[in-house]
Amino acid sequence: MGQAQAEQQVPVIKSTSGILVMKKSDVEYTKQSPCIRCARCVDACPIHLLPTNIGRLAERGMWTEAEKFHALDCIECGCCAYECPAHIPLTQLIRLAKNHIIASRKNK
Ligand code: SF4
Ligand code: SF4
Repeated sequence: MGQAQAEQQVPVIKSTSGILVMKKSDVEYTKQSPCIRCARCVDACPIHLLPTNIGRLAERGMWTEAEKFHALDCIECGCCAYECPAHIPLTQLIRLAKNHIIASRKNK
């Protein structure tokens, strides 16, 4: 869970439950490759979403369709992205979809 921060000037707020600091040598840099339709992300999702579908829709900016796949129910656990052999940032894409869906509701 959580989001990688690009810099240290980030506030600690009430909902901050922990901070993980890693050495550069401990970080694995990976290159994203195309989805191989293995469904490992689907098997990993604890609330039975289809992360691969929501991620693909988010990449295309199809927020309404992502909402139909229950993007807002995602608990952002990170299991799908962790399992993905293609290193697709599924959780980040789903978080992006959620932000757009919530923003569009506020604008109505
Ligand atoms: S981050 Fe969301 S979509 Fe991915 S496994 Fe967790 S709950 Fe499911
Ligand atoms: S785990 Fe990754 S490669 Fe496999 S179906 Fe999901 S998005 Fe595609």
